[in-house]
Amino acid sequence: MFEKSSWIRLPRNVVIGHGVLGETRAVLDDVHLTGDPLVVTSPTPREVAGERIVAQLEDAGRSPAIVTVEEASFDAVQEVIAAAEETDADFLMGVGGGKAIDIAKMASDTLDLGFVSVPTAASHDGIVSGRGSVPEGDTRHSVSADPPLAVVADTGIIADAPWELTTAGCADIISNYTAVKDWRLANRLRNVEYSEYAASLSEMTAEMLVDNADSIKPGLEESAWVVVKALVSSGVAMSIAGSSRPASGAEHLFSHQLDRIAPGKALHGHQVGVGAILCEFLHSGERGDWTAVRDALASIDAPTTAEELGVSDEEVIAALTSAHEIRDRYTILGAGISEDAALEVAAKTDVI
Ligand SMILES: [Zn+2]
Repeated sequence: MFEKSSWIRLPRNVVIGHGVLGETRAVLDDVHLTGDPLVVTSPTPREVAGERIVAQLEDAGRSPAIVTVEEASFDAVQEVIAAAEETDADFLMGVGGGKAIDIAKMASDTLDLGFVSVPTAASHDGIVSGRGSVPEGDTRHSVSADPPLAVVADTGIIADAPWELTTAGCADIISNYTAVKDWRLANRLRNVEYSEYAASLSEMTAEMLVDNADSIKPGLEESAWVVVKALVSSGVAMSIAGSSRPASGAEHLFSHQLDRIAPGKALHGHQVGVGAILCEFLHSGERGDWTAVRDALASIDAPTTAEELGVSDEEVIAALTSAHEIRDRYTILGAGISEDAALEVAAKTDVI
């Protein structure tokens, strides 16, 4: 008897391009988000996009509220929930880099309200996916929420964001290579549910980004276009899979562990990029594809060493040897990598 079923949640409107922030109102109307939103933003994004959205909606006779968050924390999520209740918000809009979007996403999940993502930087694939996480003490508070109902990504604004945010977004995409390898391994060894379609889409997204590396340059709006499209495609792969597996493997565990050991030193995307070099070596050995991963990162200006990340060799080794403890996700790290093995892979890949 046939008993399979799946439920794929995708964003309904994904609007990308030059000047599309001006179409925010039309996008909301199109997905029937009526009433007044709470706009969740952070200081710089508030100036470049948040205030403009508020003005646009006020012109249409709506009464949006706006709240600025300073850092990604569990307290900030609680603050936003309180603000939404106080202003009787009908839906939430996250306007910013990763931080404001993650916070708005998590708050809307708790409140059971609609959520719209307006990225002002292309720094990680959370701008389109249903996943969000913020640090909470020594750990992370994560949700797998619904993806945004709509995404409005204005490439004019994103191209003006600091260049390292864009290279971090690129590195997050390049890490899809090792994430998919981990997923296939987990499927073979642990019978973890696997979708060839989602895996292929995720790999193809990384492939296309690497093939277009030449057009990814500071100040070029074309770069913002290429990277945002890749982040959307990666988010769709996660939606199809119904998990973050297509875009998150051991390299992400390594990065989460670095967040604990060396907090605030490097961007998420940059950490997973270096993690992908190490994990590719673990998957395919000294003569394997790790050089291709490293060269792809270098070609878009992303860090490839501990030094470029701004972390110490010891911190890299500590993160690599403890990454498997973070969550119950089977990866190439298996039950853990020994310290001497970690030193060897990090030295042979020139990460340390
Ligand atoms: Zn990521």
